Amino acid sequence: MNVSKAELKISAVGPDQYPEENWPELAFAGRSNVGKSSFINTITHRKKLAYTSQQPGKTKTLNFFNINDLCYFVDIPGYGYAKVSKKERAAWGRMIEEYITSREQLKGVVLLIDARHDPSEDDLKMYDWLKHFEIPIMLVLTKIDKINKTKRTKHIKNIIEIIDIDEDDVYVPFSSETGDGKDDAWKQIRKLLNV
Ligand code: GDP
Repeated sequence: MNVSKAELKISAVGPDQYPEENWPELAFAGRSNVGKSSFINTITHRKKLAYTSQQPGKTKTLNFFNINDLCYFVDIPGYGYAKVSKKERAAWGRMIEEYITSREQLKGVVLLIDARHDPSEDDLKMYDWLKHFEIPIMLVLTKIDKINKTKRTKHIKNIIEIIDIDEDDVYVPFSSETGDGKDDAWKQIRKLLNV
C-alpha cells in the first residue's frame, strides 16, 4: 500500500471528539511495549507517526490517524502497564468500551501480541472481550525476528492455540526490525477495511 498521507487528526478522550468523516476505521490495541507504535510506523513508512507507550500520569487518548484520506487508524493506549493506578485503569476501560461499542465505522481491531512469550492474562482478556462485542480481530505477532527461525512455526502455532482464535480471525507474524509480515499485514488490513 502506498501511504501518501499519514497524519494525526485528533487525540480524543470521548465521542464528541471523534472525527466526523464516515471513513472505515481500524483500531490498534496491545500491551504496553508490545511494538504497537513500531508496527503503525513501519506499515505507514513513517518514523514517528505513532509514538511509544505513553507515560503513566499523562492523559491517555485515542489517537486518530488519517491514512490517505481513506480511512482512520485508531491507536488505543497500551494496557498491562504495572504502574497504572486502579482509577486510571478504570478510566482507560471506560474510554475504550465507549469507543468499541459505539463506533459504527469500526471494522476491526488489530490486536498485537508479543510473539516471544505466551499471551498474558491481559492479552487473553482483551481478545475475549473484543469477541464478546463481535469485533473482527486481526492478530499481529510482533518481534518474530527474536525467535529462532527453526522454532518459529511451532512457536506461533502454540500462541494461536493458547488464544484459541476464532476461525474467522486471521494472524500475521511480524517484525518491524526486518519488515517481515508487512505485505501480509496490509493485505489483511485492506480486507478488513474493504479498501
Ligand atoms: P508500544 O509500547 O507497543 O508502542 O511499543 P514500541 O513500538 O514503542 O516498541 C517497544 C520496544 O520494542 C522498542 O524498544 C522497540 O524498538 C522494540 N520493538 C518493537 N517492535 C520490534 C520488533 O519487531 N523486533 C524487535 N526486535 N524489537 C521491536
